[in-house]
Amino acid sequence: MRNTKARREILEIMEKHDFPLSAEQIYQMLDKDYDKSTIYRNLKYFEVEGELNSIVFSDKITYFYKSGGHFHFIYCVKCKKFERFDLCYAESMSKYIRESLGYKVLSHTLYFEGICKTCQKSI
Ligand SMILES: [Zn+2]
Ligand SMILES: [Zn+2]
Repeated sequence: MRNTKARREILEIMEKHDFPLSAEQIYQMLDKDYDKSTIYRNLKYFEVEGELNSIVFSDKITYFYKSGGHFHFIYCVKCKKFERFDLCYAESMSKYIRESLGYKVLSHTLYFEGICKTCQKSI
């Protein structure tokens, strides 16, 4: 039962945020009666179920976000914030892969890292 409650609360958090969150950040937002392994196990469960997707950035932290729709993220390496955008040019690359390499393309993972406007001012 605790697991069911944890799952519901994790999903609520993920629905409220349209940018990726780490297991640690989710842990901080939840009631402290869950241990980190419960949270991590449930995040993995949601990932297998297709409810969540995950990405790993150069700092090696895994971030989770709600699946559905098509969008990409830019990650600020200084303040560790994400910005989401809907623009995608990967379709032309998929077309190339299909036509020149003969693959059936299933998905792509594309994300950017950079330094946001605010952080550029403080350099
Ligand atoms: Zn920044
Ligand atoms: Zn895309």
